[in-house]
Amino acid sequence: MANFSIIVPIKEVPDIEKVNFDREKGRIDRSSATSEPNPFDLNALEEAVKIKEEIGGNITVISMGPPQAEDTLRDAIARGGDKAILLTDKGFAGSDTWATSYTLATAIKKLGHYDLIICGEKTVDGDTGQVGPEIAEVLDIPHVSYVNKTIERGKDSIIVQTEVWGRLYKKELKFPGLITVTKDLNEPRLPTLTNKLKAKSAEIERWGLDDLLDTGDEKHFGIKGSPTSVVNIEVPKEKGRKSKIFEGKDAAKKMVEQLRKDLGGI
Ligand SMILES: Cc1cc2nc3c(=O)[nH]c(=O)nc-3n(C[C@H](O)[C@H](O)[C@H](O)COP(=O)(O)OP(=O)(O)OC[C@H]3O[C@@H](n4cnc5c(N)ncnc54)[C@H](O)[C@@H]3O)c2cc1C
Repeated sequence: MANFSIIVPIKEVPDIEKVNFDREKGRIDRSSATSEPNPFDLNALEEAVKIKEEIGGNITVISMGPPQAEDTLRDAIARGGDKAILLTDKGFAGSDTWATSYTLATAIKKLGHYDLIICGEKTVDGDTGQVGPEIAEVLDIPHVSYVNKTIERGKDSIIVQTEVWGRLYKKELKFPGLITVTKDLNEPRLPTLTNKLKAKSAEIERWGLDDLLDTGDEKHFGIKGSPTSVVNIEVPKEKGRKSKIFEGKDAAKKMVEQLRKDLGGI
């Protein structure tokens, strides 16, 4: 029987507290801040490590991004990942969420056997929450989103609690399957010094477009494979505050009349 295999897709994101937004170009100025692993993906990795500790197996971390995203994968190895793959190629540029999901799913297919894929519920930059469920759709496997508690970890299935619109659900997911996790699931551990040293010299495999053509179709990658396009990005303008001073003995009455008028004649 194949070793229990967990895959954790991790995105490298800019430090959202520090990054600047280029209002003219309508996009994030990535050079204005350092990058880090998407925080939710650390919760996904922590769950993978807990499963490995409880039932055994191995963890593959995978990221699609520029060559620098290798740092995020090294960090993931320091936190318990066993193998890392970076999907990087000019042919992946301009991918929308669907093409991103297709690329990640195609790489997962190429890996062959897997039992469980664990994604973050969303990223702190794109914030769509679409990639996890879309990977499951491409792979044609079941998925459970917004997992905030693990009830039972098994080799054939996992029983979890999810929260959707204020309601709690208990669900069993048979493998192979995918879950997306929230920050409430756990507290990600910090890497140990020994693991940091191990991660420094770990091999990070790099796969480009050509490596994925045996499991994927060229027309579904990058900008060509993206059914959506960004037409325009606008930062909502704050409404200017107005002030008016009411004076004299009937100031309060005038103020109430003005408020009534401003609020539509109530
Ligand atoms: C038309 C269009 C063009 C775009 N062009 C570009 C571009 O040229 N360059 C660019 O950088 N972005 C581009 N983007 C943004 C890019 O599509 C998103 O960054 C990407 O699809 C992830 O979406 P998200 O951040 O909303 O992830 P979510 O759906 O919120 O992420 C959920 C989970 O999926 C996993 N995940 C998401 N992304 C990755 C990843 N890259 N690697 C590993 N795991 C991941 C993580 O586990 C994450 O927690 C474009 C978007 C659109 C709509």
